[in-house]
Amino acid sequence: MAWSRTAEADHVVILGGGIAGLFCALKLAPRPVTVLTARPIGEGASSSWAQGGIAAAVADGDTAEAHARDTIAAGAGLVDAQAAYAMTREAPQRIRDLLAYGVPFDRDLEGRLAIGREAAHSARRIVHVKGDRAGFAIMQALARAIRDTPSITLLEDHVAQALLVEDGRVHGIRALRRHDRRCISVPAAAVVLATGGIGHLYAITTNPPEARGEGLAIAAAAGALIADAEFVQFHPTAIATGGDPAPLASEAIRGEGAILINRRGERFMAALHPLAELAARDIVARGVFAEIAAGRGAFLDARGSIGAAFPEAFPTVYQSCIAAGIDPVREPIPVAPAAHYHMGGVKTDARGRTSLGGLWAAGEAASTGVHGANRLASNSLLEGIVFAARVAEDISGLMAPRRSLILPFDQAADRVAGTSPALADQHERELRALMSRRVGVVRDGEGLAAAIRAIVRIEREACTPALRHFAIAALLVATAAWRRCESRGAHYRQDFPKPDSSQARRTAVTLADARALADEAILQAEPVPAGVE
Ligand SMILES: Cc1cc2nc3c(=O)[nH]c(=O)nc-3n(C[C@H](O)[C@H](O)[C@H](O)COP(=O)(O)OP(=O)(O)OC[C@H]3O[C@@H](n4cnc5c(N)ncnc54)[C@H](O)[C@@H]3O)c2cc1C
Repeated sequence: MAWSRTAEADHVVILGGGIAGLFCALKLAPRPVTVLTARPIGEGASSSWAQGGIAAAVADGDTAEAHARDTIAAGAGLVDAQAAYAMTREAPQRIRDLLAYGVPFDRDLEGRLAIGREAAHSARRIVHVKGDRAGFAIMQALARAIRDTPSITLLEDHVAQALLVEDGRVHGIRALRRHDRRCISVPAAAVVLATGGIGHLYAITTNPPEARGEGLAIAAAAGALIADAEFVQFHPTAIATGGDPAPLASEAIRGEGAILINRRGERFMAALHPLAELAARDIVARGVFAEIAAGRGAFLDARGSIGAAFPEAFPTVYQSCIAAGIDPVREPIPVAPAAHYHMGGVKTDARGRTSLGGLWAAGEAASTGVHGANRLASNSLLEGIVFAARVAEDISGLMAPRRSLILPFDQAADRVAGTSPALADQHERELRALMSRRVGVVRDGEGLAAAIRAIVRIEREACTPALRHFAIAALLVATAAWRRCESRGAHYRQDFPKPDSSQARRTAVTLADARALADEAILQAEPVPAGVE
């Protein structure tokens, strides 16, 4: 490696430019840090697309304890209670931080923060911006603050492809520079993984294409422990007009009284749960899934409840509908469940440390244990900022700040070897369809084993690092789902439809463990005739 040891000594590199990565960089200032991200800041991040807002007990009468209790209840027995209490107690301070960075949260007539309510929260506790524009506004404010902070170096349009590990400790990263397709190496004493989720592993997802589990895969390939990978939250009401990613019709629309109907006009959720459309996300997602699977289709009908107020109340959703040729004021919106949020991720402790020295993780890429088997609405942006701040504090406590930054480029950059993009695209499409069909809203042992067999084959044939990482991330999810022989939270097995208290614990595996599980699943499964994966 052709880099200077001085730069390696105490440099911090943050992978990812979503809310977790940017917040961590700002909290580390004035320490010099490099933020490396696959797209320009603001693009390619789920954070910019968040609609509902951030949960925090800031309203009169609400408490951090009540917020923690709701978080624990949503997580179906797997929430790390200590982590949840820490998160909800620190939430109001982190909201004050965002206000200081210039986030224009909505206010009421008296100038106090306007607080909304979302499903499964026992109090009004969601701070928002212009109705459904929270993510965009937060990211704009953070991006402005980042650009005004001279200690932060941005490497945009760089895709991290590997963690550099020596003696079990991460000491840098290798990345692909997209514009000239050259590889660079960046040395670091501390690497913070904030690369977001895995939604794009699925054919139907609300996530941007960059949410493809690459951070998860490179951490696993470096030997990090991965926790709770089987728990993927499916949003029940993505707008199903063929868009990829599928735009989201946010939960708040159901909160305002919109109902779910099938093609015959029947309201199907009322028969499935007393809370009907406002039942937990996994229950609504399965209800929608069942109607679609039965050929009756599923539609969100806001005509009676919101009607003419729709464009102003939900401008983002309204624009998405109009772009797809649907007017939600006059007609029901076709919807389908879509991969939305990954509760699993790189296992961290309360300080954001992973199982590898030199590697921290925050945001959706991390698994802190606060979400357990199911995430409470609007807790993910919150987890991102709370634990990003904790990571920054931990790193600052370990290393003295430097006065100047030595640009850490590897002089000996290599061109990437020739690849076959068309074949990689074809494999990626195949994998995404398989994940939606076999590792999606409803799962069973046989289907999971078939998916695992196909994933192993695709990884073996992978002709690009990106596809290999895609397959590794898929393998981690599918093998964990195969091993959990019960239904809990967002993980539903139709061959084991009930929770099993003997399995009520979190999981943590290395990639080697996942590969061993894959061998076991393939061995146990009946041989599958060619072409039926
Ligand atoms: C449509 C939608 C609506 C949502 N609404 C809400 C909501 O109202 N409230 C809420 O709490 N949560 C919401 N969520 C979830 C929430 O937005 C995410 O969980 C959160 O933003 C994740 O933040 P992050 O910083 O971890 O990741 P992201 O914001 O996804 O950022 C990840 C970053 O990593 C970069 N990256 C990825 N791979 C690489 C790589 N290999 N190399 C370099 N960079 C890489 C990406 O380009 C991006 O910059 C929503 C999500 C979606 C998709």
